[in-house]
Amino acid sequence: MIVSVASGKGGTGKTMVSTNMALAIGERLTFLDCDVEEPNAHLFLKPKIEQREQVSTPVPLVDEQKCTFCKKCSDVCRFNAIVVVGTNDMIFKDLCHSCGGCMFVCPENAISETGRELGTIEYGHRDAIRFVQGRLRVGEAMSPPMIRKVRAAAVPHELTIIDAPPGTSCPVIAAMKGVDFVLMVTEPTPFGLHDLQLAVEAVKILDIPAGLVINRCDIGDRKVYEYAERQNLPILLEIPFDRKIAETYSCGQSIVEVMPEWKDKFKGIYRDIELHLEGLRKRVSCEN
Ligand code: SF4
Ligand code: SF4
Repeated sequence: MIVSVASGKGGTGKTMVSTNMALAIGERLTFLDCDVEEPNAHLFLKPKIEQREQVSTPVPLVDEQKCTFCKKCSDVCRFNAIVVVGTNDMIFKDLCHSCGGCMFVCPENAISETGRELGTIEYGHRDAIRFVQGRLRVGEAMSPPMIRKVRAAAVPHELTIIDAPPGTSCPVIAAMKGVDFVLMVTEPTPFGLHDLQLAVEAVKILDIPAGLVINRCDIGDRKVYEYAERQNLPILLEIPFDRKIAETYSCGQSIVEVMPEWKDKFKGIYRDIELHLEGLRKRVSCEN
């Protein structure tokens, strides 16, 4: 099973939930930090990093000896990453989405591949947790190719927890697409509700079952709860606004280690996800 832990906005406690859930489960699992612009799950999981790998994405390279400047490549590129002006081919590597379209249409086989560095993937372990994180190169604008490379490290048929980037744009879609369950972390405030609504819309389009963790549940109002009820989103955990939890997190410590009474609650999230998915499967088989 792959569970992606996401949040419509940053600062809601997404990494706190994903890391504590991983530690509380205490079984063999893979943890993927896909928040590649600012990976910070390692601060809480404290894995031993055993391997680093530079990763790149293919971008085109034009052989001007073969090129007839027909412009078919620039016509097909939706991202204006390859432009032909007169007898000049210009490639804007940072705009390239590595789709290969220009290579495919070139009638002269004048385009080959070179690489654009995306960043580094680090692999390690923390007890039974296999840890993988991506670090996007400073200045690299496109994180989805990097996120896809981190996700490729998941082991089939094993539990995988993904710490997704915040927001609802392409990076978070790359971290949610094709997973079994999206656990959304939110807070009961107007900002929390607004961003949760956007995230829920994205999850609906992807047709993935989802549930909520409500952090700082005793601040704000009841509107997030009312929205969750209308959307049939199960609330799998409520975390109060608690000074000790805030201090533990801000010191880079895990709640389940400093406050062991929370271990069952974080482990219970995973158990409830399994029950929820089992219920959905039974409902679908009855309907068929
Ligand atoms: S499609 Fe090929 S031949 Fe035509 S302009 Fe592009 S690189 Fe040159
Ligand atoms: S690989 Fe795709 S995005 Fe990149 S230049 Fe070619 S057509 Fe454009």
